[in-house]
Amino acid sequence: MFKKAFSSARILNPFKGHEPDVLPFEIRFDPLTGETGRVFHIPFKAEKPPVEETVKRSREIFCPFCPEALEKSTPAFPEDILPGGRMKVGRACLFPNMLPFDHYAAVSVFSDDHYIPMEELTPPAMEDAFLASLRFLKRIQECDAGAGFFAVNWNYMPPSGSSIVHPHLQPTAGEVPTNHLRLQMEGAQRYAKEHGVDFWGDFMEQEKQSGERYIGEIGPTFWAMSFLPLGFLPDISCVFTKARTLSDLREEDLSPFLEGLAKVLRYFLEQNVYSFNMALFAVRESESFRVNARVCPRLLPRPIGNSDIAYPQMLHRESFTVYPPESVCTHVREVFDRKKD
Ligand SMILES: [Zn+2]
Repeated sequence: MFKKAFSSARILNPFKGHEPDVLPFEIRFDPLTGETGRVFHIPFKAEKPPVEETVKRSREIFCPFCPEALEKSTPAFPEDILPGGRMKVGRACLFPNMLPFDHYAAVSVFSDDHYIPMEELTPPAMEDAFLASLRFLKRIQECDAGAGFFAVNWNYMPPSGSSIVHPHLQPTAGEVPTNHLRLQMEGAQRYAKEHGVDFWGDFMEQEKQSGERYIGEIGPTFWAMSFLPLGFLPDISCVFTKARTLSDLREEDLSPFLEGLAKVLRYFLEQNVYSFNMALFAVRESESFRVNARVCPRLLPRPIGNSDIAYPQMLHRESFTVYPPESVCTHVREVFDRKKD
């Protein structure tokens, strides 16, 4: 299931008196989608980014999600899509996304707080926005039979692509799956056809057995380092063990998920990573799919402020990751198992 090819490049190394040397790397194949990516063995330690400066700058710019602006500056849904136009759940408020990423695209603002530091993204701090997103997707599923693909997305802080610091989720629903969701579905169907059993069951069993990337389980959520990372630094996958479809995903499943997510974010912080992307993928119907999520650290890797996405991801659709997920799994697990800080 976990296929990798070892390769290397030959050089005369300037750091070793221009003696012949080899630079090893791996080409990994995603066990579900078959996509490939490169994994290097480069020691990398992120420096703490100037978060306070970014937050200060963001306060000087107009923020449409702050309470004094939200009502006037954000759109509302037509009554047939969402009665009342906006959805309030606890401290969260959900309304249409002005960037129509899909037929149904919303923004779910966490609270009135313009900035929530990553260390304060606890399960209670995240719950309302996630509940609102899930309720929105379930409503769309009920009122539009054509909507078959669903996601809850999150860009946290500018290195992840977010232009607005004010924490918000971006739930989407539509008729056409994104590339990654489509590849996941096709992979799951292919595996079921070829092996006569479910990919996810085999996947979780093998990950747990090898322990190389296994992080832990909280209720019906299974956590592991992704075998083929998609980012500059290794990312983390979560499988909802009992949910094949959006209908199977229950509101009470959010709490174990958010507990795990908060632990993952704690690990990122310890790596000086203050930004991330998250996506939760779901479908209307499938006999071979499982609702799953992915959390990917994002950063500007060098002091010059370069992006962590370059030509390989942008134009070759090929990821590269500076060190293997297995090399940090023990640390992630240690943070995950920690009772209290
Ligand atoms: Zn704001």
